[in-house]
Amino acid sequence: MARIETPRRVRGTQDIFGDELRRFAHVVDTFERVRRLYCFQRVEVPIFEDTQVFARSIGETTDVVSKEMYTFPDRGGDLLTLRPEFTAGIARAYITEGWQQHAPLKLATSGPVFRYERPQKGRYRQFHQIDAEILGAPEPAADVELLALADQLLRELDIADGVTLQLNTLGDAETRDAWRAALVAHFEVHRDALSDDSVARLERNPLRILDSKDPRDRPVADAAPGIDAYLTSEAGAFFESVTRGLDAAGVAWTRNDRLVRGLDYYRHTAFEFVTDRLGAQGTVLAGGRYDGLVESLGGPATAGVGWAAGVERLAMLLDDPQAPPIEAVVIPLGDAAAVRAQAVVADLRRAGIAVDMAFRGNMKKRLARADAQGARFAVILGDDEIARGEAAVKHLAAGTQTAVALDALAEALRTA
Ligand code: ATP
Ligand code: MG
Repeated sequence: MARIETPRRVRGTQDIFGDELRRFAHVVDTFERVRRLYCFQRVEVPIFEDTQVFARSIGETTDVVSKEMYTFPDRGGDLLTLRPEFTAGIARAYITEGWQQHAPLKLATSGPVFRYERPQKGRYRQFHQIDAEILGAPEPAADVELLALADQLLRELDIADGVTLQLNTLGDAETRDAWRAALVAHFEVHRDALSDDSVARLERNPLRILDSKDPRDRPVADAAPGIDAYLTSEAGAFFESVTRGLDAAGVAWTRNDRLVRGLDYYRHTAFEFVTDRLGAQGTVLAGGRYDGLVESLGGPATAGVGWAAGVERLAMLLDDPQAPPIEAVVIPLGDAAAVRAQAVVADLRRAGIAVDMAFRGNMKKRLARADAQGARFAVILGDDEIARGEAAVKHLAAGTQTAVALDALAEALRTA
């Protein structure tokens, strides 16, 4: 008989299980809790969109659009793309769903995103982001609130110590044009030292050279002029309001006057939370202000500011998680007890108590497994106990055992 080949997991995708899943879930749960404290409401947007949603808002010259998108025609011939990020889809929804009427709008979401990249540690083709956005708020206070949310998230995950907020401004359009001209002049002088990719960027998107990870580009990029000499007074004042607000809110930051973001739509505030604990994949959370984005999708002029963080990268920074403890494991001994145990576990679960049933193996094995599951109690049901309407409740850590009436079991476990 021909051997059946098992299909492989697709390169760059993940099956998340056990401790890894616990870390992952802890990141998402903590984000859900903290975003509520900041009054960001949860939204869900589609996993795929019309390709134009991303092509127009992220920008044709970016790595994401030019080489990382999963784009395909569907059966009806429409050109669709799996979302490589959340912001563009949220901006599309803001226009098509009339969310403008709710502005200013503080939104949070999370889920899988897709980028065709070379897979490595901390870099996948299907990964997961948590995402926070404020639409319709041009005030620097919105930038401060978003950054405070990010900062509190990292603190509550207990990873803030190893992570630094790097902050920059990209100024307004006038600032950016002037800085761009200065950068082009600088890079032209050092053209021969740049990588081929960066020579191409010089024509299409010179700011991106600052962001290059190619070691050939780093000396030229690091010697490039910073933005400060080109800041208009309005742009300078905006940035100062942001930094003053951060200081008032107790959010630590450092200036990086050469920080740019990969996507075209950023204006004013740009930031990254960076760690040196993850090698080349050191950016865990990143974002900024994107006041031109909604307009680039055909909507009204709308201010926006937001960030996204990689759930996997945050999860990699967490300490070993504790398996969430369960209250009890029910151990039936014999056929009659097995049936009775179904009623016992159902009653306990309806009473809101987490219990598992251990129906296989000898007593020692079952107790060991209950221990491994983090159960506090083993509830042992034998024929004698059932005849008396009782269970033997064993406290696993102490090794003590007491008889408890079955109808008082939920109460006994809860108050023990
Ligand atoms: P990088 O410079 O690492 O490619 P990026 O600038 O492309 O990151 P963003 O588009 O800002 O990343 O996405 C926000 C966050 O999503 C990143 O800071 C990172 O934590 C995470 N991220 C981005 N790409 C990946 C990926 N391929 N796999 C896992 N996480 C990712
Ligand atoms: Mg990238």
